[in-house]
Amino acid sequence: MPDTFPHLAPFSAEFDRITKITVCTRPFRAIGPRIEAEKVGDKLVVHNYGHGGAGWSLSWGSGQVALDLALAGRDPSQTDVAIIGCGALGITAAILAQRAGAKSVTIYAKDLPNATRSFNATGSYTPFSRIALRDSATAAFGDLWETMARATFAMHQTFLNLPEHPIEFTDRFYLSNPEPNVFEQQLIDQDPIGFVNYQSRIADLNGPVADFGPGTHPFPLPWVRQRSEMMFNITGLAQHLTEEFQRHDGRIVLREFHSPTEFASLPQPVILHCTGYAARKLFGDDSLIPVRGQIGWLPPQPEIQCGVYFDFLGVLSRRDGVVVQLNGKGEQSGWNDDTETPDPEEAAHTIRMLQNLYARMQLAIPVNLP
Ligand SMILES: Cc1cc2nc3c(=O)[nH]c(=O)nc-3n(C[C@H](O)[C@H](O)[C@H](O)COP(=O)(O)OP(=O)(O)OC[C@H]3O[C@@H](n4cnc5c(N)ncnc54)[C@H](O)[C@@H]3O)c2cc1C
Repeated sequence: MPDTFPHLAPFSAEFDRITKITVCTRPFRAIGPRIEAEKVGDKLVVHNYGHGGAGWSLSWGSGQVALDLALAGRDPSQTDVAIIGCGALGITAAILAQRAGAKSVTIYAKDLPNATRSFNATGSYTPFSRIALRDSATAAFGDLWETMARATFAMHQTFLNLPEHPIEFTDRFYLSNPEPNVFEQQLIDQDPIGFVNYQSRIADLNGPVADFGPGTHPFPLPWVRQRSEMMFNITGLAQHLTEEFQRHDGRIVLREFHSPTEFASLPQPVILHCTGYAARKLFGDDSLIPVRGQIGWLPPQPEIQCGVYFDFLGVLSRRDGVVVQLNGKGEQSGWNDDTETPDPEEAAHTIRMLQNLYARMQLAIPVNLP
């Protein structure tokens, strides 16, 4: 393989090597996540849910906004804080509360981190993914989103180079026809749902792109855009965050709430509510729209450290497995679909697409690299 593309050993893609198929629902709200305070009985409840396809990518920034609301006018060192939920939004908010000096922080959750929907995410820094609708989100939300996206990007980088490698930067290759700028614009223009398009607001964060035209790369599509991007090894990230929380005397209590009135039984006066899509049932929030996503997992292939994207298929090699994910029609795939049953045929189809890509690469005429 030419030196310019050092990571491109073919992924080993056999259907019988799929180790698991996971499905979950992105918690989407047209106006963006709900980050606001309300009184429930004598408790101050601050909501922090509805982050669509961007929960990990907005987690720290969103948690900080929620925490500021929770602690406003209070002495943190005198405040016991409860967090409901242990997914991306709950565990990060809990750590932020500890770092702010809260007297105690207790997480109450139905599931531990490795059983949450967050645990089944792709692992990409995608704060712009399915986060709001153009017609519904305010200009103020756009500004808040940018603040949260930048704060989260900065905080995740404090977890680089740790033993579990929770956060890494790896190369991504976006294959396209037509050329990348036109292709990216087509995706925006063809979106029938009307998602907000904030990518350009944080374009500086991913660093420079390198575009390769026909005949200058080994892929069977004419154009390749290469970029280094942040990646979350979610197994290592969830483990690292849980251990940090517990090391600082954080407690995790397994408990399911069936109604907000049950919050009255908690000893803490302040509650950060981070139940993601489950808030639809728990708080009767019908503004939450499920956006289904399925991932087929191949065993880890540590010799390959990159992601490849073509024809709405994404393949991302993480330390804890290779993510193979089809966004069949783009961002609107899975829109308003709350079924969380795996679809083996979809998984098989993604593997055939990957095999086909590599078969065409092997047939490709040798290329002359610059
Ligand atoms: C296929 C797919 C890929 C994705 N990829 C990415 C990605 O690459 N990058 C990214 O940033 N985002 C990604 N997302 C989006 C991300 O997964 C979500 O935004 C995120 O998981 C939301 O996290 P959360 O903490 O709000 O909810 P959850 O992860 O659902 O956590 C909710 C918590 O609340 C608890 N809970 C729920 N109900 C109750 C109850 N009644 N009582 C007590 N506890 C309760 C649960 O046990 C859990 O601990 C992806 C989503 C999907 C579906």
